[in-house]
Amino acid sequence: MIAFAVLAALPFVAAHPKVNWYQPRDSPVHELFRRADVDITAANFTAGYPPLYMSPNATNTPQAWIDKLNSITLPSANPVAVQTGTANPKYDVANGTDGSGPDICSFTSGCHTDTDLFHGPDNTFVLTFDDGPSDVSQDLYDFLKQNNINGNATHFMIGTNIVGDPATAKSAFTNGGHMAVHTWSHPYMTTRTNEQVVGELGWTMQIIADVTGGHIPAFWRPPYGDVDNRVRAIAKEVFGLTTVLWNHDTNDWAIGAGGNFTIESVEATMDTWFVGPRSPGILALEHEINNNSLIVFKHEYPGFAANNWTIQSVADAFGMDWYQNAVANGAIASTMSVGDIQTAMFTNQSQTATAGATGASGSAAGNSTASGSGSAGASATAATTKAGSAMGIAAPVAAVVGAAVLAVAF
Ligand SMILES: [Zn+2]
Repeated sequence: MIAFAVLAALPFVAAHPKVNWYQPRDSPVHELFRRADVDITAANFTAGYPPLYMSPNATNTPQAWIDKLNSITLPSANPVAVQTGTANPKYDVANGTDGSGPDICSFTSGCHTDTDLFHGPDNTFVLTFDDGPSDVSQDLYDFLKQNNINGNATHFMIGTNIVGDPATAKSAFTNGGHMAVHTWSHPYMTTRTNEQVVGELGWTMQIIADVTGGHIPAFWRPPYGDVDNRVRAIAKEVFGLTTVLWNHDTNDWAIGAGGNFTIESVEATMDTWFVGPRSPGILALEHEINNNSLIVFKHEYPGFAANNWTIQSVADAFGMDWYQNAVANGAIASTMSVGDIQTAMFTNQSQTATAGATGASGSAAGNSTASGSGSAGASATAATTKAGSAMGIAAPVAAVVGAAVLAVAF
């Protein structure tokens, strides 16, 4: 894990990558899907999001996102995996392709890349909770607050669950938590089409932005850890998302699920972690999914604290900005929408022009500085960007109703 080791060793300023986007502020892209001042208590809050429990597709995904997808170059080996029943997805089984090689690099088959966050930094317990919000989430947030670690956890949330309980999702944010993406409907992402991958990621980014006053997520974790180079490329090149995996699995989700995992067995495993090796550190897979996962965390947290582990969110552990447009909660450098996220493709003048730029000037100068103090450019951008424009949903989307929590494994 040379990549993160280098990152962790860099001075603070250098370790904070700049947030860059290159779309001129007058581009129509900026007006797509901006939803400022969203009232999560409004009766029509759910309107405008795609159907729940399924992957959004091209018909209910903003054209700007699809246009970005079409502008990137996917890896040469980019097959869509096939799942039979509940088995792990497979590629071309007949030809012996399980996706474990570097060309596909499926984490389901044990492969991860240098761009994935996998190990924790030395002496660090990277604290993450997947699958929220759920009906135990608020209890977890209260516990984090009581222990002064409310700003030390990353919450990988499911878009469908946020639609069902936006207030609790917002509570994670106002409690100080680091908000990140765990997809819209929690599928095996390698089995989704390119357009569905875009919808799963983009809509979850959108609803997180909506409930947090515009904070655009910078990290995502694939459900079941199911990611390959095709999905990685879409996450990074279309949406600027860093893929987060894990090197320690609590299996807390599996307690009571019919297997061999019990509260006692999971706790016994975690007991060995906080007295175990400290290099590499621990990037754990934990959940805010039900009372079992909550009980385990409350029981095990004191062990990590007592053994002087540095307990940090994903972003802080790796010295990165929390969001694509903010160094942390409440520190938005500039308003932007999910459609604004710019990756390398938009450094290309022709693509900038394609996106409808007038007088393309290149950078919007809306960078957040490494220190987060706000550069002149960022200030100028913020001052000239009017929040509150109407959401520009053109595609037909289904109105959705209050949803039950999507309770899923991993
Ligand atoms: Zn999950």
